[in-house]
Amino acid sequence: MKKILLLGATGSIGLQTIDIIEQHPDQLMLVGVCAGNQKEVLEKIVQKHPSIEVVGLARQDVTQIDDKPAFTGPDCMQACIEHCEYDILVNAVVGFRGLLPTLLSIQKGKDVALANKESLVAGGPLVKEALKRSSAKLYPIDSEHSAIFQCLQGNQEKNVARLIITASGGSFRDKKREELKNVSVKETLCHPNWSMGQRITVDSATMINKGFEVIEAHYLFDLPYSKIDTVLHPQSIVHSMVEYNDHAIMAQLGSADMRLPIQYALMYPNRPYFREDKPLDMTKTLSLDFKEMDFERYPLLALAYNVGQQGGNLGAILNAADEQAVELFLKEEISFLQIEEAIEQAIAHAKFIENPSFEQLLESDAWARAFVKEFALQH
Ligand code: MG
Repeated sequence: MKKILLLGATGSIGLQTIDIIEQHPDQLMLVGVCAGNQKEVLEKIVQKHPSIEVVGLARQDVTQIDDKPAFTGPDCMQACIEHCEYDILVNAVVGFRGLLPTLLSIQKGKDVALANKESLVAGGPLVKEALKRSSAKLYPIDSEHSAIFQCLQGNQEKNVARLIITASGGSFRDKKREELKNVSVKETLCHPNWSMGQRITVDSATMINKGFEVIEAHYLFDLPYSKIDTVLHPQSIVHSMVEYNDHAIMAQLGSADMRLPIQYALMYPNRPYFREDKPLDMTKTLSLDFKEMDFERYPLLALAYNVGQQGGNLGAILNAADEQAVELFLKEEISFLQIEEAIEQAIAHAKFIENPSFEQLLESDAWARAFVKEFALQH
């Protein structure tokens, strides 16, 4: 029986994690949950899972969930990690705040199933360093990285020629840059293939999400950026590929269902059956198209490669500028193209720190958010 502590329990990945746990009651057990502010949803989860011993909620106006005492306030995730007896942490937190729990769990020697890509984008070097000193392992939940992880099984990393991360192109893939000027929030939130949280849907439309995934892949698989490529693949059926030195290309195919990466991370290397609404039927797949990535159409992807190569605190700046810019866009305070502009400006004006401490990453994060807020006021 594997005991699971789930952070970000009420979000999209959190709820799908619970679905997988409920499908394998003989192997997986939910022992701790933590969420941001959706108290009612969290209450339902706690009622349904008597195995839950530790509960956390970022909101401060509650002291208990259902009849269980809860850790509340901004430090609730740390408290849950400290007080919960678990085997694997599912980090499904959105944003930079997910970095600290990743580090703490690794320091505690407990495995992490990582859906929080910001842990690696903003804190990659710190996470890698922590892993070196710990017996804990990191399992990817992002669909692309799970695909790569699956394609690497049984092979040797020294034989890898390159990783090929697929990108659907997001909500505006059929639009030219000049058509993006006046796109609305509503249009942006209509992803053609995946149903996901708001931030990641906007990040897919700007393609910065793919940039984050390139940086994530660099740290997860320990490969230089020159060996990490991206390709446009509108159908989102091939979730990513690995090309080996002998030119063999391994790909992982499946429907656009995040529960497979979640289950693979939780039950690796097992592949038990799970109920899926629409598993991929190859005979009904009309075609698989691949197109070269267009870095002029998606400048934030080019910027992310640059940021990744420079390293230091720039990943934290890139992420924080994006988190803030997307928040302002969702509130209709800046336009879609101003997301790009704000992030580019933040990177251009950031003070570079080569080997940042956690505290310096916090400062970089705060600086970038303030910078983008200021940008919004002036535009
Ligand atoms: Mg992804």
